[in-house]
Amino acid sequence: MTNQSFSDRDLAVLWHPCTQMKDHEAFPVIPIKKGRGVWLEDFEGNQYLDAISSWWVNLFGHANPVINAALKDQLDTLEHVIFAGFTHESAVRLAEKLVEITPVGLSRCFYADNGSSAVEVALKMSFHYWRNIGQASKTKFITLENSYHGETLGALAVGNVALYKETYGPLLMDVITVPGPDCYNREPGESWADYSTRRFTLMERALQQHAESICAVIIEPLVQCAGNMRMYDPVYLHKLRDACDKYNVHLIADEIAVGFGRTGTLFACEHAAITPDFMCLSKGLTGGYLALSAVLTTDQVYRAFYADYQNMTAFLHSHSYTGNALACRAGLATIEIFQQQDIIGNNKKLAEAMAKAAARFNEHPHVAEVRQTGMILAIEMVKNKHTREPYPWQERRGLKVYQYALSKGVLLRPLGNVIYFMPPYVVTEEELWLIADVAWEGIQRAVKD
Ligand SMILES: *Cc1c(COP(=O)(O)O)cnc(C)c1O
Repeated sequence: MTNQSFSDRDLAVLWHPCTQMKDHEAFPVIPIKKGRGVWLEDFEGNQYLDAISSWWVNLFGHANPVINAALKDQLDTLEHVIFAGFTHESAVRLAEKLVEITPVGLSRCFYADNGSSAVEVALKMSFHYWRNIGQASKTKFITLENSYHGETLGALAVGNVALYKETYGPLLMDVITVPGPDCYNREPGESWADYSTRRFTLMERALQQHAESICAVIIEPLVQCAGNMRMYDPVYLHKLRDACDKYNVHLIADEIAVGFGRTGTLFACEHAAITPDFMCLSKGLTGGYLALSAVLTTDQVYRAFYADYQNMTAFLHSHSYTGNALACRAGLATIEIFQQQDIIGNNKKLAEAMAKAAARFNEHPHVAEVRQTGMILAIEMVKNKHTREPYPWQERRGLKVYQYALSKGVLLRPLGNVIYFMPPYVVTEEELWLIADVAWEGIQRAVKD
């Protein structure tokens, strides 16, 4: 079996996510035969270092022995059971763990089966909460410029990345979009904290103006990942929590990408010591194994739904695979790894090594910024370093970096012209240097002519 034969069969019947399929006339899809640790291997024995954690989901490597063992045991015990009227050990234990490790005050766990669904749940729950307590005039959401919350229609509506959203505009609910704290836009010499503070006044104003009609503000804490890995200071979260309390509006923290250690703490909200009213988790939740998401919320929200059936205040939302036993067990094994090893401490060292390996990009004539929050590092490739004029998107320079890196055995998948490193936590310092070397050479080639 060759790569080519698989690729041909694939292209005859498949339609891949986030892909212009015609691109594959020029380059094939890569069939992966197996994975181990940070490495993927195709059908011809070529290896690829998974420097983006397979779309930010993988935490402890492919074919992780701890998670594998847990799943094998679960598989022989219970694969899945209806989650209405029934429950099972892994779902209960995982919910207990999530309540224990998420910020104080989050005491209820609602499962869904992917990130977008978790966002839908949080939006519906927030709206429904206000309705249940007699504030049915609250029907709108505030979101940040450049935010991303998933692809289903509700999640897309509260997102703001034009590339994904614009086409579907006529289908989407109205939201209030506030200019964001993205620190790439700060003035020269201005600190992240100062810029984030300054930008918060725009959020405060929006809340002041619209609070009566607002259910919640939804944000990605600290890093807008799909929005080109743009970052901001925790002071913004701190101020937002205070303002949401002041104006009687929920705060939804979408930690689907940044949760589980990506920003240096277990959850990004910890940087500002805040508790949101809803926290959405997915991606790393199962260590990158299975589709599962969770929405954590407070006792106050839960109690607003809790009444006699005839009151019709129940949250009647469901997904067929809610609380899937295999997925919950993978989540449990993932959290056990965090609790049995000093992952957060070790990541500090890895993050420092990553900073060192990427330091030279600061001097690159086509790099406007190297930014980092914990285990996420991004390199902004531009046409003009001094004016920060970007390359026209039509030139697809990031794609050139992608293709070059693949030819050298590294899986990078730039977001437009932003090259980023977001590796599994089992990456070694040596491998980080390899990623940086390949990215450097890829950028060298991509910026030619
Ligand atoms: C990936 C992502 C989502 C959507 O999750 P899916 O599982 O892809 O639906 C939502 N929010 C953020 C911040 C994400 O990064």
